[in-house]
Amino acid sequence: MQTRFSAAQLQDPGVAASEPILRKCVHCGFCTATCPTYVLLGDELDSPRGRIYLIKEMLENGRPASAEVALHVDRCLSCLACMTTCPSGVHYQHLIDHARVHVEKTYRRPLLERGLRALLAAVLPYPRRFAAALALVPLARPFARVLPARMRAMLELVSARSLPAKPADTAGTAQAGRASSGTATFDAAELRGANDGRRVFAALGERRARVGLLLGCVQTVLEPSINAATIRVLTRAGCEVVTISGCCGSLVHHLGRERDALEFGARVLEQVGAEIRAGGLDVLVANASGCGTHAKDYGHLFRNHALAAPAAEASARARDVTELLAEIGLPPVRPDPPRLAVAYHSACSMQHGQKIDEPPRALLRQAGFALREIAEPHLCCGSAGTYNILQPEIAARLRERKVANVARTGADVVATGNIGCITQLAVGTGSPVVHTVELLDWATGGPAPPAWLARARR
Ligand code: SF4
Ligand code: SF4
Repeated sequence: MQTRFSAAQLQDPGVAASEPILRKCVHCGFCTATCPTYVLLGDELDSPRGRIYLIKEMLENGRPASAEVALHVDRCLSCLACMTTCPSGVHYQHLIDHARVHVEKTYRRPLLERGLRALLAAVLPYPRRFAAALALVPLARPFARVLPARMRAMLELVSARSLPAKPADTAGTAQAGRASSGTATFDAAELRGANDGRRVFAALGERRARVGLLLGCVQTVLEPSINAATIRVLTRAGCEVVTISGCCGSLVHHLGRERDALEFGARVLEQVGAEIRAGGLDVLVANASGCGTHAKDYGHLFRNHALAAPAAEASARARDVTELLAEIGLPPVRPDPPRLAVAYHSACSMQHGQKIDEPPRALLRQAGFALREIAEPHLCCGSAGTYNILQPEIAARLRERKVANVARTGADVVATGNIGCITQLAVGTGSPVVHTVELLDWATGGPAPPAWLARARR
């Protein structure tokens, strides 16, 4: 695609990065077939190619974002299915990220929209604030039917997951982990909201690697069992695990809030840098693929920043937990592993953002689970960060489609590697939805995932 940016326009680092991306697009339209919003809405402007045109026009003409551009940019899930499909290697991720920042800076949204976005940015990345907000959920439930669609969507999402278990429940679960593995000196309750301090968990046996685990934000409140399971598996596999606390910046990044995203990222980079200097850090581990995709992109996001070098270093070390386990090997499987059929849902940030396909599947098979593939695996489940709150109708249609495909597998349990998908799929499916690493932990000596136990108790 030809572009006509002036030399002055190309002085802008965002435009300079987007221009070669735009030039790579040859308008072939292959990407439209796998774009969830185009598949659902059938509007060219809700396809990758249509959005690329809109973005090009806006940037070339140096215009503020119009309501039309904002609408179609906002409807993009950032699922990146288009990047997997594109034969020309168009880096749509960096283009849509730039467009979101431009929209945020130049478009004045209606008051309620601005308020909701500000609220999400002020609450979700902060575990204490999010936990306090969750405590209000029971008060809001009786009014669910009269709430606006977006508030209702939010309520539905947090209600579908069992709200944080009472310490006694969780401790019981963790005790099972201690009893069977003899390795855990912590439990999920302790890790909930453990974003305030550095914790180190020693490797079991010979230390084979020293890794930093991104604890994340929403996940530490909604599903602390995921970080607990990750630490148990990794320590059993010979990793010393040090916690890296705080939001990685991904949530606000997808809202186009560039400055906030850099601030969150900088706090992570500070901790990673300190660990590298202190005892060396072989790997920066993410167990939420949305966070992993973001951490792998720190090098690009900080390219014009004082932290450019540490950011590139952190990105080079970033791995999904399943990538790391595939490299170092799964700990020995217990003699009586759970024999379950697992429907594996590959999160968009896993399959399209990080191009990780085989490691999680291979590990689940190795752990003794029977894998069932879900039809239309490339299509997003509608989670996409805060998308299911901001675009509840499209998100609900995508979820219904995914849940129906999951049901056709007849599997006992659904596994995925992203907290957003876990929360999204838990609405509308009767099957327990768990994190892949929770199943790997269970099969190698840890406790059963809380969502599985909750189903078993029903
Ligand atoms: S990121 Fe996903 S929703 Fe957005 S244009 Fe690409 S395929 Fe479509
Ligand atoms: S597949 Fe790639 S080159 Fe073709 S229209 Fe889509 S983004 Fe452009």
